[in-house]
Amino acid sequence: MAAPQRLGLLYEGKAKQIYATTDDDLVWMHFKDDATAFNGVKKASIRDKGEVNAAISAHLLRRVEDAGIPTHLVEVVGPRDQLCHRLEIIPVEVVVRNIAAGSICRRLGLEEGTALSRPLIEFFYKSDELNDPLINDDHALMFGWAEAWELAYLRHAALRVNATLCEFWDGLDVTLVDFKLEFGRALGKGQTGRILLADEITPDGSRLWEKNTLRKLDKDVFRRDLGDLGDTYRDLFARIFGEAFHADSEA
Ligand code: UDP
Repeated sequence: MAAPQRLGLLYEGKAKQIYATTDDDLVWMHFKDDATAFNGVKKASIRDKGEVNAAISAHLLRRVEDAGIPTHLVEVVGPRDQLCHRLEIIPVEVVVRNIAAGSICRRLGLEEGTALSRPLIEFFYKSDELNDPLINDDHALMFGWAEAWELAYLRHAALRVNATLCEFWDGLDVTLVDFKLEFGRALGKGQTGRILLADEITPDGSRLWEKNTLRKLDKDVFRRDLGDLGDTYRDLFARIFGEAFHADSEA
């Protein structure tokens, strides 16, 4: 069968674009160089970010698949482009934390870096207008955002992904502090109702600290003006793939 072709733009997010394709069951995901923080209040274009994130996300989604958690990724079709299963996104963002940082510190008065005795899962309602508020299972059920079995699966899958990613980052001398996942219900033929891990796994949606130095290797560098985000991401690419990053594409 001929490879699906890219059609019109369906959706543009802060860091990615989603296009329709000639195959109804698939979408085309394009990673942009745009960086945003604080729900879009702070913005910049970071050279190579889209390409580095696309490579990292594909690599990590494949590892997660190998660990038994199905994902939306079907095929890498370019340095910043991926064919993915078409989904209905579940509007519940799943955050897994191994160490306290970010919003949990502000919310609960914890010191950044406080170790958690086991992985902690938090749910947030995916809504830019409301700034993604923290919710619990009851909210998700009450307002029809997810069913009970889906929430149970989200927890199970998030913990499995955490174990897989912790092992991966540990091997590179990096601590996985926390990360955010999104899931969706597959819409394709023969797939209806299947839950797939969606979106991306990148340093945009994870906190990664270099062991020993505690240097931040993630989007906190941009959020908090700690250095050059492009350099940080290119270094991360080299650490993962064992070779220097060379750009293959224009944004
Ligand atoms: N995160 C994300 N998108 C969001 C909110 C959070 O990718 O809209 C990621 C974030 O990068 C971090 C983790 O989820 O790795 C936990 O974020 P937190 O709740 O601490 O919020 P923040 O301090 O980033 O506002």
